[in-house]
Amino acid sequence: MKKIALFPGSFDPFTKGHADIAARAAKIFDQVIITIGYNSKKQSRHFDVDYMIKKIDEAFVNNDKISVIKYNELTANLAQRLGAEYLIRGLRNTTDFEYENSISQINKRIFPELETVFIITDPKYAYISSTIIREIYAYGQNVNEFLPYDID
Ligand code: ADP
Repeated sequence: MKKIALFPGSFDPFTKGHADIAARAAKIFDQVIITIGYNSKKQSRHFDVDYMIKKIDEAFVNNDKISVIKYNELTANLAQRLGAEYLIRGLRNTTDFEYENSISQINKRIFPELETVFIITDPKYAYISSTIIREIYAYGQNVNEFLPYDID
C-alpha cells in the first residue's frame, strides 16, 4: 500500500523551514500532501491561502511526490478521508514538543491508525517562524531570504 503522509499547518507563510521538512518527508514516504488549514468564515490570515498554494506548487515543481491542498476540517478526519496514515510535523524545540505531544494524542483518538512522525528541524532553519516573518513583513522588510519562493 502506498504510504501517504500529510504535512498540515497554517503555513502563513510557508517558509524554508517548512520546505526542508516536506522535502525530507518525501524521502521517507511515497506521497507528501502539504495541507493548509484555513477557516473560510474567519479570514485571519496574512498571506492568502490560494496565493500560498500557488507559491508552494512553484517551489516543488521538480518534486512529483509533493503536492499541496487547503482544508477546513479536523486534520485527523482529512487524513482518514484521503487514506493518509501519517502526519508529518516539524520540531524546533521543547515548546513545539509540548504542543505536538497533545495534538498527536488527540489525533490518534479520532483516527487510531494515524501515526504522527516528527522530523527535527535543520539547525539553520530553527530560528525561522511564520510569526516572526509576518511581523517583519508587516514593517516592510523584504522576507524572501526566509522563503523557498519569492513574494512578488
Ligand atoms: P501550526 O499553525 O499548525 O502550528 P505552522 O504552519 O506554524 O503550523 O507549522 C507547521 C509545522 O511546521 C509544525 O509542525 C511546526 O512545528 C513546523 N515548523 C514551523 N517552523 C519550522 C521550522 N523553521 N523548521 C522546522 N519545522 C518548522
